[in-house]
Amino acid sequence: MTRDSIRQGLVEELQPADEITRFYRFVSKSDEMECWIWTGTRDRKGYGRFTAKRAGKRASVGAHRFSFERFKGEIPQGFHVCHACDNPSCVNPDHLWAGTPKENDQDCCAKGRKIAPARRKIDRSEALTLRAQGWSYLQLADHFSVAPSSISRVLRPLGWGGQISLNQHSPRLRAKAQS
Ligand SMILES: [Zn+2]
Repeated sequence: MTRDSIRQGLVEELQPADEITRFYRFVSKSDEMECWIWTGTRDRKGYGRFTAKRAGKRASVGAHRFSFERFKGEIPQGFHVCHACDNPSCVNPDHLWAGTPKENDQDCCAKGRKIAPARRKIDRSEALTLRAQGWSYLQLADHFSVAPSSISRVLRPLGWGGQISLNQHSPRLRAKAQS
């Protein structure tokens, strides 16, 4: 048995098929690439909560953490699951990454919506082209050497809720958007 198949077995044991079906009932998505919005219970910070079996008992777990485990595998001990899209209620595994508490802090995924100065390093048209070719936020972040949340801010100036206007972005981006 390979290490991967052992891990796979572990994930399946933690998350039996009926849990996945139930999980999807609380997910609203218009597109695989966009945010998958959690429509179930949320905590005060907006993170989804989901009841899953843990060690034979029912437990309330973060919906984004559940999604990460289901689609990407085990979360390393002590790691946070961070949102590349900066949207706490999102459970799209493509928008999730596991970071140490320090990385989590640097990416401000636990700290709210600070604007990352790293945006200046990103060539938006190049990022859009690569994104259209199927690159994930994480791959783009790696490519441009920035935090994943910076990628999503640059790619989606209208923001996840549609309330963030272009005015809150840099004049350069605004000029580009109008040209
Ligand atoms: Zn998202």
